[in-house]
Amino acid sequence: MSTLSAPTLDITAIRQQFPILHQQINGKPLVYFDNAATNQKPESVINALNGYYSGYNANIHRGIHALAEKATAAFEDTRKAVQQFIGSREVEEVIFTKGTTEGINLVAATWGRMSLQAGDEIIISTMEHHSNIVPWQLLCEEKGAVLRVIPISESGEIIWEEFEKLLSAKTKLVSIVHASNALGTINPVQKVIKAAHAVGAKVLVDGAQASAHLALDVQTLDVDFYVFSAHKLYGPTGVGILYGKRALLEAMPPYQGGGEMIAEVSFEKTTYNVIPYKFEAGTPNIADVVALKAAIDFVNQYGKSAIAAHEDALLQYATEKVGAIEGIRLVGTAAHKVSVLSFVLEGMHPFDVGMMLDAKGIAVRTGHHCTQPLMKRLGLEGTIRASFAIYNTFEEIDTLVSALKDLAAKRK
Ligand code: PLP
Repeated sequence: MSTLSAPTLDITAIRQQFPILHQQINGKPLVYFDNAATNQKPESVINALNGYYSGYNANIHRGIHALAEKATAAFEDTRKAVQQFIGSREVEEVIFTKGTTEGINLVAATWGRMSLQAGDEIIISTMEHHSNIVPWQLLCEEKGAVLRVIPISESGEIIWEEFEKLLSAKTKLVSIVHASNALGTINPVQKVIKAAHAVGAKVLVDGAQASAHLALDVQTLDVDFYVFSAHKLYGPTGVGILYGKRALLEAMPPYQGGGEMIAEVSFEKTTYNVIPYKFEAGTPNIADVVALKAAIDFVNQYGKSAIAAHEDALLQYATEKVGAIEGIRLVGTAAHKVSVLSFVLEGMHPFDVGMMLDAKGIAVRTGHHCTQPLMKRLGLEGTIRASFAIYNTFEEIDTLVSALKDLAAKRK
C-alpha cells in the first residue's frame, strides 16, 4: 500500500455512491480503469434523471403549465451551474450540445465557415483526438485553408519552438486539447492562448479530459471557445458544453435550423433567437442536462483540487509500479499529466492484454484511442490505457499490477 494519499477524501464513502462499481465481472470484483472513455455516475446523477422522468417530464421554454415551468427552471439552473463551474462572465455564453464532438463541429461549421478564406491556416497538435482533427480537415477542404500540426517530443509534449514557428498572420485558429486522452499530457493552454492572440488568431480548447480534473476559469484563460462532455464529468451521455465569448457567438450564424433557435419565421425571412438559444435548435436533451447539474454538484462537493490530488497520487503510484514491470514501456511521460497511464507490453498486442485483464475483472482501454496520427508519430499501433477517477483505489492498482506481472511472466 502506498503512503501517498489524499486525506481529504473518504474514498470508501465515495464508492458507496456509485452502484455500478459493486459488481463482479468474470467472477472478480470490477476494477474500472476506463475513466478517460467515460466515468461512472453517482446515485445523485441517476436520481436526477429518474426524478425528471418520474416527476416533471415536459418540454421546456414554450409551456406555461407547471411541469413545463419546473422543467425549464431545472434546465436553466444547469446552465447557471455550468457558468459558475467554468467561470464564464455570462450565462448566455454557455451552449448545450451533444458533447465535445458536436461543440467542435458547431464552431467549425459556423465560426469557421464565416471566418476562413483560402490560404488561411488552422493549427492543431499531434496529440489531438480525431474529433479535433476531422472537423478542421473538412473545413479546410471546403475553404482551401491549410491545417498545420504542432510536433510533439518523445515524452508527448508539444514542442514550443515549433509552435511559435507555425504561428503567423495567416493563423486564424489554434485548436488544442487541454489534456490528452491517450497520454494524459496537460498542455500549457494559457501560454498557447496568449501566443495565438498575439498574431490575431482565435483559440478553441478541447476540455474533454480536463473538465473533471483541472481547475478552469475561461475568463482567466481568455479562451475564445472551450468544449467538453458531461459523460466524462460523472454526468450523463449525450450532453456537452460549448463555451464561447459573447461577441463571437453573436456574430456566428446558426448551426442548425428549427424550433427554439428562431425569433420569427416567415417564408420570406426568418430572424434568429438570441444566444444561447440560437444554437439550440429543437427539443434539447432535457433530462440529461438536468442531471448534469447533479454531476457538477458532485464534483464541487469535493473540490477539483482534492480530486486532482487523489488522482495524482494514484497516477504516481501506478506509474512507479506498472513502469517497474519487466517488458512494460510507459508511453507519454510528460511532466504535467492528468490521471492517464498509457503503456505497451513488449511481445503482446494491446488488444490481447485488454482481453486478459477483462478476464480478471479489470476494465482498461486498448487501441489507438481515437488518436491515430499520434500513434503513428509514436510508432505504435496502440497502447493499453488505464485512467483513474475519484473512486479508484491504490488496492485496485495493486490488482492491475499483479495481473500485468502474470501476463508479463507468461510471455517468456
Ligand atoms: N476530445 C478528447 C480529448 C476526448 O478524450 C474525447 C472523447 O474521448 C473527445 C474529444 C470526444 O468526446 P465525445 O465523444 O464525448 O464527443
